[in-house]
Amino acid sequence: MKPPAFEYVVADSVEAAVAALVAASGEAKILAGGQSLVPMLNFRLLRPAILVDINRIPGLIFIEERETDIRIGALTRHHQLETSPVIAKSLPALGAAMAHVAHLAIRNRGTIGGSLSHGDPAAELPMLALLLDATLTIAAPSGTRTVAAKNFFLGALSVDLGADELVTDVAFSKLPAGTGWGFEEVARRHGDFALAAVATTLTVSDGRISEARIAMTGVDETPKRAGDAEAMLVGQALDPRLLERAIGAVRGAVTPNTDLHASADYRRHLVGVLAGRALAAAWQRGGGT
Ligand SMILES: Cc1cc2nc3c(=O)[nH]c(=O)nc-3n(C[C@H](O)[C@H](O)[C@H](O)COP(=O)(O)OP(=O)(O)OC[C@H]3O[C@@H](n4cnc5c(N)ncnc54)[C@H](O)[C@@H]3O)c2cc1C
Repeated sequence: MKPPAFEYVVADSVEAAVAALVAASGEAKILAGGQSLVPMLNFRLLRPAILVDINRIPGLIFIEERETDIRIGALTRHHQLETSPVIAKSLPALGAAMAHVAHLAIRNRGTIGGSLSHGDPAAELPMLALLLDATLTIAAPSGTRTVAAKNFFLGALSVDLGADELVTDVAFSKLPAGTGWGFEEVARRHGDFALAAVATTLTVSDGRISEARIAMTGVDETPKRAGDAEAMLVGQALDPRLLERAIGAVRGAVTPNTDLHASADYRRHLVGVLAGRALAAAWQRGGGT
């Protein structure tokens, strides 16, 4: 199918993009990698009057290591995250997850800003943003604002972003020393959206977990953290009984849908299995015995 007709505006600065969005009074969409937007246009799920192409705005593609965080420009492509030595060193769970996002051709075009703004409930990057307590910087007509990932994802394909706002970059806090990570995903075919995926970090000190994070995707309207399971792990050493309890809490934290690909019961079972594997990997990588 072909998209409905639209006007095409190329923005050469963040200010110009925001001005074009304001002028369109809600009738425009930002075009980044186009890997989610263009299929939606072709299926006539969206009919924007104007596309504002942000690909020629300089300064939106970067991976910058700072003292306490890693800042990533909104137009940074998935494949750049997948192959970045900075990401591999400081945010290895994010690097590992990227290989599961679609196929190389799509990862060459798709952007971190686009994936977060699209807010697909089975996407990997929103889950990683939640796991790693990311902060998004957003350009708005009145200036810039920041929003924590935990407040950004509102529902399926719904995020805290006005029609005249643009994500410019995302900051991921560095993890403390002694932090191990895990990432597990099941999809029907490699590159498909996840039936369920789990990403974890465990910070281990003196043989006990001092901080636990568990994030999940594909099993709810938005990516989610498993707060109860995280809390029960803190202060403990990971053993099989504790792991089983954490898996139970993870399953209790999600409300998956039944669709063509899997039943809700299967997804709930699966997310527990994946959480168990991801926690065991994080414990081992963090130096737990
Ligand atoms: C066959 C196929 C398989 C895929 N599989 C996966 C998968 O397994 N996992 C996964 O996570 N994704 C998958 N994707 C989606 C892919 O990751 C997209 O690249 C991503 O979701 C959107 O990024 P984009 O840069 O292409 O955004 P676009 O398609 O250009 O835009 C998406 C939406 O975000 C808005 N937007 C874009 N950039 C910004 C910004 N900076 N600020 C504000 N709003 C913005 C747009 O207006 C639009 O509404 C798949 C896509 C395809 C076609």
